[in-house]
Amino acid sequence: MHNKKGISIILIMLIISTLLAGCSQELSPKHPRAVEGMLDLSEWRFDQDLIGLDGQWEFYWNQLLEPSDLKVTEISRTGYIEIPGSWNHYQLNDMELPGAGYATYRLIIKTGEKERLALKIPRIFTAYKLWVNDELIASSGIVGQNRESMAPQYLPQLAFFAAQKGENEIILQVSNFYHRSGGILERLILGSEELVLNLRYKNMAYELILFGCIMIIGAYHIALFFFRRQNRSTLYFGLFCIFIGIRTLLVGERLFIYLFPGFNWEVAHKMQTLTFYLGVPLIVMFFKFVFPKDISEKFVRFIIIIGLVFGGLVLLTPARIFTTFNPIYQIVALIVIIYLTYIFFKKLFKKDKNIGLIVAGGLALFITSLNDIIFLSIWLNDNGSTLLRSIFRTGNLSSIGQMIFVFTISIVLAKQFSEAMEKEEVMTMQLKEMNLNLDQVVKQRTKALEESKEKIEHQKLELEKTNQALQLLSLKDPLTNLWNRRKFDEIIENEWNRCFRNRKSISVMILDIDLFKGYNDRYGHLAGDECLIQVAKAIANSFKRASDLVARYGGEEFVVIMPECKKDEAIKMALLLCEKIEGLKIPYGDSSLSKYVTVSIGVTSKIPDSNSSPTDLILLADKALYQAKNAGRNQIKFLAE
Ligand code: GH3
Ligand code: MG
Ligand code: MG
Repeated sequence: MHNKKGISIILIMLIISTLLAGCSQELSPKHPRAVEGMLDLSEWRFDQDLIGLDGQWEFYWNQLLEPSDLKVTEISRTGYIEIPGSWNHYQLNDMELPGAGYATYRLIIKTGEKERLALKIPRIFTAYKLWVNDELIASSGIVGQNRESMAPQYLPQLAFFAAQKGENEIILQVSNFYHRSGGILERLILGSEELVLNLRYKNMAYELILFGCIMIIGAYHIALFFFRRQNRSTLYFGLFCIFIGIRTLLVGERLFIYLFPGFNWEVAHKMQTLTFYLGVPLIVMFFKFVFPKDISEKFVRFIIIIGLVFGGLVLLTPARIFTTFNPIYQIVALIVIIYLTYIFFKKLFKKDKNIGLIVAGGLALFITSLNDIIFLSIWLNDNGSTLLRSIFRTGNLSSIGQMIFVFTISIVLAKQFSEAMEKEEVMTMQLKEMNLNLDQVVKQRTKALEESKEKIEHQKLELEKTNQALQLLSLKDPLTNLWNRRKFDEIIENEWNRCFRNRKSISVMILDIDLFKGYNDRYGHLAGDECLIQVAKAIANSFKRASDLVARYGGEEFVVIMPECKKDEAIKMALLLCEKIEGLKIPYGDSSLSKYVTVSIGVTSKIPDSNSSPTDLILLADKALYQAKNAGRNQIKFLAE
């Protein structure tokens, strides 16, 4: 990062130094000055150095004189006037001259040899005609004695003439009814054709390069803004570039007039002034975007309003009016420069990102603009002090400042742009990674969920199984594994109803082991249990029909429900069972009945009707059992209603 910065700064320095070398006017500092309308250049080498025709020129106020006029009659000279400088405030009879008016200037140049020379004529306020040695060699606009008869035009140009050995006469007619200031405000330059042409070409090349670069950068940043509208700094900066690009063609060599010859002076002047008046608020808005927290919102609004008011003034009033307000706007620009410079130094101490480049560009713009404002100020033009003039030698420094500003800020904006993009790329990558992780996390979670779901289902199944077993347990007798009394109560009710519907008989038998108390006493409780199990098995095995139900009725009593079973069949089954149980040959030595364990059985059978209930049926079977016991045990008794 540091390296890149270094390279870019070196690059800028190179560009700047090239430009500076290209535009410096290279006038030798010690050159003769005109004294009382006479400039002695007899020792001057025109092929080596350019010379400014500075100093005291003859001045004829309110007269438009031609070479012949000045030869024939004795014309009353107004005096001598310091050139360059406007005629405003020239003291005449204790009165100051106004900006509007007309005059003739005259200068005699003494040369050592006869040679071809060239004169570089700046813009002259605001129309002129120029003779050298009686020959009219240059003019711009139409010179006239009032506003109506004259036409203003700025046209910096070259004029060529053959200098005679000895005295050469330069006569310049100037009229101005359009600008605040009148006269020759900028320096005329004399030299050999080659040197003057070189200067002209250098200036033109410099201005065209500047124009091209700045316009392209401006267009580029405006395009950037349209692609990314949230960053308005590119718009302000782009517009500012376009403004100073246009301005470049309107000042200096004024190439604009060569592109559009005869372009209306007023309109061109309005355009040039507008680029300055609107450029100031644009710069403030740009820096407000760059340092949003540091620049006061009120200040920005104030400057925008001032800029718009002055802009409106330029649009609505002629140049001779709006140019009188120019000094006020220059003070506004000065305030802006001071305020923004103060902000720069404040930020410089905070060491913000890119602050070095921003401040370097900004200061380059401000310092050179300051130079131009002072150079072009009414104060310097009208009360021209030679000392100040030697400090502020040129009024065209700001174009260099603008170039530096445009380059540094372009680099800052490009850097910010690429940084923003880099940030976005990193964020996109992080997002992608997160998405990928999210996928995996979701997969893991889903798997875990599925596993726990399976587990739960498994547990549910187990639970159902145990539930079923529990239910069975509650309906089964644990010792004999027969149905218990509860199941019996449930089934007898169902079967009774079924047989009632089908009009079929239902039979029930109750079995009771004979003298079982005695068996327990003799063989013990465990043997008693074993006996119960064997008897239960024998009973269960005897009933194969699905609808038959064998249950333990209590202690050593068992009960059998036989639906759809008639009396004969039931008796037959009871007899068979009696035999079968004795046939188990469970020894019971002490019994007076048999050597083995025996049972007594009460049997009953009935077709259910609405007058009776299952309870009646059981009571009958019980009664039959009681009869069997009473009759001597080890037998069956049948009892019906
Ligand atoms: P009866 O011929 O008149 O039926 O005489 P009994 O002794 O069989 O009749 P009683 O009702 O007086 O006796 C029943 C005995 O059955 C009492 C009890 O000790 C025994 N008994 C009841 N349930 C069980 C059991 O689950 N296991 C064992 N080992 N004995 C039981
Ligand atoms: Mg009993
Ligand atoms: Mg018994």
